[in-house]
Amino acid sequence: MSKKLIRAALAAAMALTMLILPSGEVSYAATRQSAPEYINVGLRFGSSAAHSVNLSSQDELEASETGGKSLADLGEEQVVLTKDTAPYHIELDGSFDTFSDAISELRDMDIEEGYAYYDGSWKIYIGSYSSSDDADTYAQELYEQFGGKYSFEAVEAQGRNINVSAGSGDIIMSYDTGKGVQLESASGYPVSVDGKKYRGSIICKRLTSGDITVINRVRLEEYLYGVVPKEMSGSWPVEALKAQAIAARNYTVISLGKHSSQGFDICNTTDCQVYGGYDSEAKNSNAAVDATAGRFMTYDGSLVQAFYHSNSGGMTENSENVWSAKLPYLRGVSDEFSLGAPNDSWSVALSSDQLQTLLAGSNVDIGDLKGVNVTQKSDNGRVIELEVVGSQGSKTIQKESIRKVIGYNTLKSTYFDLQTSAGAQQGVKVISASGIKSLDTSQAKVMSYAGDKISWGTISGTFVQNSTKKAQFTISQEAAQQYVFNGRGWGHGLGMSQWGAKNMADSGYSYIDILKHYYTGVEIE
Ligand SMILES: [Zn+2]
Repeated sequence: MSKKLIRAALAAAMALTMLILPSGEVSYAATRQSAPEYINVGLRFGSSAAHSVNLSSQDELEASETGGKSLADLGEEQVVLTKDTAPYHIELDGSFDTFSDAISELRDMDIEEGYAYYDGSWKIYIGSYSSSDDADTYAQELYEQFGGKYSFEAVEAQGRNINVSAGSGDIIMSYDTGKGVQLESASGYPVSVDGKKYRGSIICKRLTSGDITVINRVRLEEYLYGVVPKEMSGSWPVEALKAQAIAARNYTVISLGKHSSQGFDICNTTDCQVYGGYDSEAKNSNAAVDATAGRFMTYDGSLVQAFYHSNSGGMTENSENVWSAKLPYLRGVSDEFSLGAPNDSWSVALSSDQLQTLLAGSNVDIGDLKGVNVTQKSDNGRVIELEVVGSQGSKTIQKESIRKVIGYNTLKSTYFDLQTSAGAQQGVKVISASGIKSLDTSQAKVMSYAGDKISWGTISGTFVQNSTKKAQFTISQEAAQQYVFNGRGWGHGLGMSQWGAKNMADSGYSYIDILKHYYTGVEIE
């Protein structure tokens, strides 16, 4: 396969993650020392929180304290976690040191509906009851059944409880999810969560009695195994993947705490970084993570916000020309490495109607669209201000917001030139010494000899003439029918160009060369 074909195939296969910084606000405080060994990744949360969760592994599952000692061998390779929705249970008086102690006591008592319950210590719970009266009644019956040897009491269930059941439906154990319990393979195999495998352990929480929030507690470096191939094809050269691994590691540590109110550090979607877990891992990307383990990119001792994009189009951009924050390491640099790669140049044509619809969809209200003008560009070539002119006034759209209005996939970058169809320019004719000429009306105003402004609405039928020729103002309000955006690159243009990184790696550059090319004045440490 030719190099060009390989690139095209990879472009089609790759899902690119663009990091969008909505406010331009940037955290600047994180350092290498902020990096934890383990992180908590939200897998299902908020509106995607689960009613029930299936966990399985190649070996028996166990429950343990978060990051600590083992609590219970569940004796099953597959369990189902469900919310405990019963309002009341019966609790056997007294507690047990271990899960096994509770289970053996239960066997001795031979109570079928009994199970071990953990809320910091082990207890025995019996049955589910809809009212405290029902529970009290049965507690009394049990007391009599055991001839007063044991005492029982009705307890109101915690809204945070989760039941762990075997395939048979029998409850193996139940626990208060506020007490720091995790489930994992006893032999360290990945755990499958509803069919998708993850390294590390699984923590399930019920926030405000709601559905189950599913969290993967995993070593930072193993988390990156599941992130890097989601950002850059795992088959790409390892030096490019190492640069991507550093970018992802930096991003992770800077973003920790973003979801603390939901009980985890970082989520698994484009909101943070897409994380595919064990199933998405690839040999080259795992090798890239290992080779750069514990290494970060810093500027002046602080972790760099390592933004990246698909293709720079030949020039990267200053951060303040895309969002608002000015970051010293996000400066525009010339980038010939991105040329010849997919989307190094592109063109998209939008009709006036299409553009009008997009503007209305973003509440840019200017009446009927009359024209669009690029009014400011950065030194690096990206559009900073786009003026849209309508029958009810004009508005200016700035920087990356231009892509937000037109669509991030339609307008692949703000690195574009704008070409309009000829209609507006030919609309008004004037007579000059060299004959009748069309007038560019984009900035023009028409006034009478006396200085009265002639409005566009009354201009039709007005003639201008010199001694030999006469011309009519033929139209008044005809706007361009089509706008053609001729652009370069894909993405915001900040920091590393992924295709540029690939071409640098193919040309023998190291990941350090790549990072230092795209991030100005940084250190890799
Ligand atoms: Zn997130």
